[in-house]
This record gives sequence, C-alpha cells and structure tokens, in this order.
Amino acid sequence: MQLHVPTIFVALFFSFVLFVAALTFTRPILGAGAELRLWVRSVWLLLASFVALFSRVFMPEWFAVLFGNGLIFASLYLMSQALHRFVLAQDAPRWNKALMLLGWVGTALVMNSPLPVRTVVISCLIAAQLAPMVWLMLTRGWQAETALRTVGITLTLTWLSLLLRVANAIVRPEDYSGYFQTSLGNGVTYLASFLFPLGAGYGFVLANLERTAHRLDALATHDGMTGCLNRGAFDTLMGNALQRVRRDGTPASLIALDLDNFKQINDTRGHPTGDAVLQAFAHTLRDRLRAADALGRLGGDEFAVLLSDTDAAGALTMAEVLRTTAEALEIPTPDGERLRITVSIGVATATPDSLSTVEALHAAADKSLYAAKQGGRNQAVRLEAGSLQAAGRGNTLATG
Ligand code: GH3
Ligand code: MG
Repeated sequence: MQLHVPTIFVALFFSFVLFVAALTFTRPILGAGAELRLWVRSVWLLLASFVALFSRVFMPEWFAVLFGNGLIFASLYLMSQALHRFVLAQDAPRWNKALMLLGWVGTALVMNSPLPVRTVVISCLIAAQLAPMVWLMLTRGWQAETALRTVGITLTLTWLSLLLRVANAIVRPEDYSGYFQTSLGNGVTYLASFLFPLGAGYGFVLANLERTAHRLDALATHDGMTGCLNRGAFDTLMGNALQRVRRDGTPASLIALDLDNFKQINDTRGHPTGDAVLQAFAHTLRDRLRAADALGRLGGDEFAVLLSDTDAAGALTMAEVLRTTAEALEIPTPDGERLRITVSIGVATATPDSLSTVEALHAAADKSLYAAKQGGRNQAVRLEAGSLQAAGRGNTLATG
C-alpha cells in the first residue's frame, strides 16, 4: 500500500486549520480555564510548525528544519502543561521544559545530517517529549473525565507511529530520502501527526465540557459554602427514599439539626467566623456519616441528615453521636481562640404507615427539633404521637 503524502498533507492541513479556527472562536464561550487556553496556543504553534515545515519549497532548508521542528517542541511543551494542569491541577515538572530544549539542541545538531539520520533523531526527540504525556494520560488521566481517554489513545498511537517511523527509517533509509516521498512510513507518520492534534484536541475540548457540566450540576444541587446538598436536591432524595419505604416496607429517618444560639456567634464574632463555623460543622457531620447517608443544608444554620433503612431507635442513636461530635468540636477562630458549639436535634421516622410524604416527615422532624430547643437545647429528641424520646445531656430517655 502506498499513501500519497502530498494529498494527505493538503487534506489534513485544511481540516486542521478549520479545527484550530473553530477552537479559537469557541474557547471564550466554552468558559473553560487556563488549560484550554494553553491548548489553543499549542495548536496554533503546531499549525505554524506545519507551515514552517512546508516552507522548505520556497525558503532555505535550515529555516524550515529549525523553525518547523522547533515549533513542534514548543507546541508539545504547552500541551503537556495543559494536560498536567487539567489532570493534576499543577504545572508540568521542570524536566518537561528540558525535553523541549533538548529537542531544539538535537534538531540543530542534526540539521546538516542526511535526511534518514535526521528523521530518526528528530522522531526520537519528539517521542521522548510525548512519552511523559502518554504516561500521564494512561495512568491518572484515565481516571479523570472519560473524554480524556480519547487524548490518551491518540497520544499513544502517535507515539507508536513515531517509533514505527524510527524503525522504518533505520531498516529502509531509502524511503526517507525525500521530504514528501510517497512511502508507507512517511505516509503513516504524516497521517498520525495531523490526526493526533485533531483527535486529542476534540478529546480535550470534550473533557473540559464534561468537567464544566459536572461543576454546573454540583452548583445546581449543592450549597456552595458548605458543600452539602441544597434543599431542592435533598428533598428529591427524600422523595425517592420514601418511595422505597412504601415499596419495600423498610423505614427511613430524618434528622434535623439546628445550631444553638448561632446568631450570637455572628453578632459577637462577625459573619465570616459564623461561616467558618457552618463549614466546620458540615465537615464534621460528613466525616461521621456513611456514604449512603445524605447531608443537606436546609437554610441558615439548619442542616438535615437522611438515613435510609434506619428505624427510630437507630436514628436516635445516630443523632446522639452527631450531637456529641458537635459538642466536642473545637473551631479555630481568626483571633487564635477555639470556639465550641452545641446543636439541637429533632428526629422523625417514616414507615409504610406513617409520615410517608416529604412535607410530613420534615414537619415531624421540625416538631422534635422545636421540643429539643424548648427542652434547653444541646439534645436530640424524637416525638411520637405525644410521647417524647430524648437522648443527650447524659443520654436521658424520657417519655411523657
Ligand atoms: P437557636 O438556638 O434558637 O437556634 O438560636 P439561633 O441564634 O441559632 O437562631 P436561629 O437558628 O434562628 O439563627 C439562625 C441565624 O443564622 C440567623 C442568621 O443571621 C444566621 N445565618 C443564616 N445564614 C447564614 C450564613 O450563611 N452565614 C452566617 N454566618 N450566618 C447565617
Ligand atoms: Mg440556630
């Protein structure tokens, strides 16, 4: 099989131009961060490198070789930065820059060597610069956004095609005696060098969109300050849990928590300290709960925990655990003090025969919470048909 290199070059060059243009125009709308900006710069450099490499038909040889390949190494460096920031949220290690410099120096050294030698050396240098990116994409990148796998696959194929080019140029140097020579090795590499930025570029754009979609989803369902579910999302989960209660006959419980005298903290220490208290409290609750439990912030200093498959006794025990955990919490303030808090808790349990709507379960938990406040705060209470069960302040259990 023969691949006609000039045809491949022209066809892919223009599809790449369209891709770069589309990416440049849509990047501000995609709203993604610095990573995508780096990627756009990188593909512009790559486009410039193709033009520079092609310019050997009317420019001096040294210009095409030095600038063409030099721009490729610079482009790959930016790509590596973009991928590291996206996957690891940190800059690429310094030696990535060293690989780019090595590429420049290596290219300058073989500039006057015969074409097959130059092909082998420069392909090895590009493969060396790609290798850490391939590794990053196949390890940590594989666990990141799924669209990033396209980048991993494309990078790996490009890397393999470079190795193929090296091996092919060593075995059949005569195939590499002209730049646009129509041969399998030359054709495959040209094909890979255009398909790679296209495939990886689409993958990277989609991975950015995937991340943005997740963030928007999290914003719509979570409270930004504490990371808890917001009221709407929490009630949706409650609705689903109550359906399971009716269907499977297993109980589910709601724990409503409200910080005691929280207004005083705001008034005496300021709103930012109040916010820090809410965050610390939410963090502590989350640490104590099982993965299957849902934690919501219903508003202000009121939180709620939904326990699936948990009866009244289990819920009251859990409520008491949460109360003592809050009591033991020491929250550092900006003025170096350690703030203590307490929390009042109301518990309600839904069974197939009672409290089977979201509103009814909330109302019952609120009633219990009110009783806990009335009873002197810092306690967990469950009211049931006029009777009161209280845990807390020494694990009292009262009925009346
Ligand atoms: P009680 O023991 O009866 O619950 O007394 P309390 O002072 O905690 O009273 P309440 O629960 O009614 O007070 C809630 C306060 O929470 C009122 C409001 O100013 C404050 N608050 C609501 N949202 C926020 C917030 O996002 N940040 C801060 N710092 N304060 C908030
Ligand atoms: Mg309160």
